[in-house]
Amino acid sequence: MAKVLIVLYPDPVTGYPPEYARDTVPEITEYPGGATLPDPQAIDFVPGQLLGSVSGGLGLKRWLESEGHTVVITSDKEGADSMFERELPDADVVISQPFWPAYLTADRIERAEKLQLVITAGIGSDHTDLNAANARGITVAEVTYSNSISVAEHTVMQVLVLVRDFVTQHRISEEGGWNIADAVSRSYDLEGMRVGVFAAGRIGRAVIERLAPFGVRLSYTDRFRLPREYEERYGLTFHDSIESLVREVDVLTVHAPLTDETRGLLDDELLATMPRGAYIVNPARGAIADRDAIVRALESGRLAGYAGDVWDPQPAPAGHPWRTMPHNAMTTHTSGTSLSGQARYAAGTREILERWFAGEEIRPEYLIVEGGGYRGTGAHSYAQQPTQAAGEQA
Ligand code: NDP
Repeated sequence: MAKVLIVLYPDPVTGYPPEYARDTVPEITEYPGGATLPDPQAIDFVPGQLLGSVSGGLGLKRWLESEGHTVVITSDKEGADSMFERELPDADVVISQPFWPAYLTADRIERAEKLQLVITAGIGSDHTDLNAANARGITVAEVTYSNSISVAEHTVMQVLVLVRDFVTQHRISEEGGWNIADAVSRSYDLEGMRVGVFAAGRIGRAVIERLAPFGVRLSYTDRFRLPREYEERYGLTFHDSIESLVREVDVLTVHAPLTDETRGLLDDELLATMPRGAYIVNPARGAIADRDAIVRALESGRLAGYAGDVWDPQPAPAGHPWRTMPHNAMTTHTSGTSLSGQARYAAGTREILERWFAGEEIRPEYLIVEGGGYRGTGAHSYAQQPTQAAGEQA
């Protein structure tokens, strides 16, 4: 029997469960391109419930305990005295979400002597030192595609929020004002703008497909070029580097994984080459942007706005400058954890566990590392994994 250590974000401050705005979430039957949804033998939750917080427990607790496993669920993950640190040494399985990552550094992996399986309930396993996991033969899996469309929708929302300056307008409305001139002094139409997509993977392509009907001029860069028919369908211009892309965009959206190549990429030097008044939306990873360079670019007017919902580390400290920098529309890493997305990645997490405990293979699209090497999705996406887990300071 295994000990399963699950690190989740805290419950709502008003208590669990929250009062739900809707009774159901729509049923999605397949992902774009025909990839299949999670297929566990059963689920122990109602889709649309809050599953990502401690009391939601990803809908796993009752089932795991009925199978004889020990389950520890906590949000307490920071510092040497945290419950996560205390429970880690004899844990067989660790599960956490990128929104509230349990940073599995090389040092922690060394102390987790029994650890065999690490699951990212969601997408993006850069909070685990994958090289250290490989050295120990630990399996790391994530629930590919589970929240890609959730993030793409959030990206489109943040592009519009920035360009139309929604935050200012909403604030004026809430504060009882009606100065329309103040409300529109930074408000533009997205139509006709040049939108550049950095990395056209699952999320990047979903953003392209959702923004195309706005009548924007789309361009992108990626390690590999998309098929010509796809480029033609969306009027896409390809750039062979981020340096070339950013010179010709009004809006940049960022969808690359955090690797040694992408860490700190959005720095003073690169930002200085963007047209004055450009916007950046980064829902990929906070560490892809140089924190202080973004603040400087907003203060100087080089950037007209910055949004995204990823930070480094997470949770970000209360004094993090991105919370208060001018013209930001930041969110606290919520894009991939809508109630709709939670249902999919909770089901995917259960599928991975069911197969693991039954000694069956985890499907390749969920595998990141296994048996000492990058496998499945990991072989494609994470081969250039940073040598340290993100948020190493945690
Ligand atoms: P994919 O693996 O489908 O796409 C990533 C793309 O990035 C691939 O096309 C890849 O290229 C490309 N890429 C990698 N490195 C570079 C580079 N150095 N330069 C240019 N392109 C590069 O991932 P997803 O679209 O599903 O997710 C993207 C990222 O978004 C994740 O890694 C994660 O960090 C983040 N994410 C955030 C979430 C949130 O809640 N905010 C939720 C889910 C993901 P190629 O395949 O051609 O090698």
